[in-house]
Amino acid sequence: EAATLSRIGLAGLAVMGQNLALNIAEKGFPISVYNRTTSKVDETLDRARFEGGLPMTGHYSPRDFVLSLERPRSVIILVKAGPPVDQTIAALSDHMEAGDTIIDGGNEWYENTERRIHELAGKGILYLGMGVSGGEEGARHGPSLMPGGSYAAYQNIEDIVKKVAAQVEDGPCVTYIGEGGSGNFVKMVHNGIEYGDMQLISEAYDVLKNVGGLSNSELAEIFSEWNKGELESFLIEITADIFRVRDESGEGELVDKILDKTGMKGTGKWTVQQAAELSVAAPTIAASLDCRYLSGLKEEREAAAEALREAGLKEEVGGVSSGIDKKRLIDDVRQALYASKICSYAQGMNLLRTKSVEKGWNLNLGEMARIWKGGCIIRAVFLDRIKKAYQRNPNLASLVVDPEFAREMVQRQAAWRRVVGLAISAGISTPGMCASLAYFDTYRRARLPANLVQAQRDLFGAHTYERIDRPGSFHTEWTKLA
Ligand code: NAP
Repeated sequence: EAATLSRIGLAGLAVMGQNLALNIAEKGFPISVYNRTTSKVDETLDRARFEGGLPMTGHYSPRDFVLSLERPRSVIILVKAGPPVDQTIAALSDHMEAGDTIIDGGNEWYENTERRIHELAGKGILYLGMGVSGGEEGARHGPSLMPGGSYAAYQNIEDIVKKVAAQVEDGPCVTYIGEGGSGNFVKMVHNGIEYGDMQLISEAYDVLKNVGGLSNSELAEIFSEWNKGELESFLIEITADIFRVRDESGEGELVDKILDKTGMKGTGKWTVQQAAELSVAAPTIAASLDCRYLSGLKEEREAAAEALREAGLKEEVGGVSSGIDKKRLIDDVRQALYASKICSYAQGMNLLRTKSVEKGWNLNLGEMARIWKGGCIIRAVFLDRIKKAYQRNPNLASLVVDPEFAREMVQRQAAWRRVVGLAISAGISTPGMCASLAYFDTYRRARLPANLVQAQRDLFGAHTYERIDRPGSFHTEWTKLA
């Protein structure tokens, strides 16, 4: 028996767990698998056999599973976040000992990870909260991995995660993120950025379709073309593919038959909540979250479309396209999308930095951009440039003021404003692009109307104000002077 111990174990064999287990086995690490419902153990073993006899053993009780592992033991958990993780830890840790490692690969709230690190420390069990991105495909063939928590635990699995992660030209898409719940936090912000990217792409689609009058096949062409340039990314690539898929049960393309209500699981909301908690402006990510909420109000929107119909605004497909230079519109939208995206990443990165300072995580933002270059949903060519921007200056106040990005933003301003202006006058909302543009225009102004807000606060609440011409804190009896 002792001769056949596995290098690592994985508990929780739904979509993510099954695929990650197969990936680990395929990279040559013998793996033990376990799932509460045992039929999934057999299913996973069948797949391992079918895919060429990958080194895997299945176990039907937590005890047999844990005892099948080499010491110090390492177990990855991939179950539903929250109480199921606690229940799984309880079942496994009974059979584990000091020096063993548990790694939670779920989309967990970072504070739950910090609590578990603390709880397990009593038993000497090491713990990591490891964000895993890339969905089913990523898990099977190379995800982006964001492990945070015990560094000793990371060292126990470093050889495995470096082989299992997506590989790009400057290394595997994994790094030790930092202490505590930092791995979960970074994954959460990744998802928030993903919300922003998807919203911005949907707005580009909306403008091209409803202002420019473009067809699905034209859209497929344009997105494929964009995927050869600065926008090259997984999300742009799949968007091009989506426009080509016919509706098997009717006429035309499937995309037009899909109900316009977006689902969500919570990481985007957490990102916006954290931004608010930390006083970090993240308007593009917030706009994308708000849009998901508004999309859910389908019936209300249908009623409002009637009640608020505005004479003079044409909203038929292509209705405003007469007189529009299509070629220029397409090029403008590309630039607006790119500039809006940079603002959104600037917000996400600044959220990471602020949290890092609060928690003492010492996050390396350039490394975060690097490990997102492959495997994950937001993988994109331009992440390499973000990495380099933070390498040039680790203390960069904002991505938009990095000399290279600043130049690009300035070059794209005119096109960006044309797109947003056109959309506004057509009554087509572009909340993500508008939020990014407002963020940009607010950030780059040396003087804002905040002086008036301070005056109001001082008038009604005696909150005091500072002056531009001398130091100190001032209060005025405004109503007596008015
Ligand atoms: P899931 O649907 O979130 O969870 C199903 C798994 O959890 C099953 O193995 C199930 O076991 C187990 N489970 C649920 N309650 C349990 C309990 N009380 N005790 C023990 N096991 C329990 O699975 P998933 O989609 O593979 O996701 C796993 C994790 O990865 C989640 O945190 C998810 O957010 C994250 N994630 C998912 C994706 C994705 O694309 N799906 C991408 C990135 C991250 P039974 O079979 O016994 O019910």
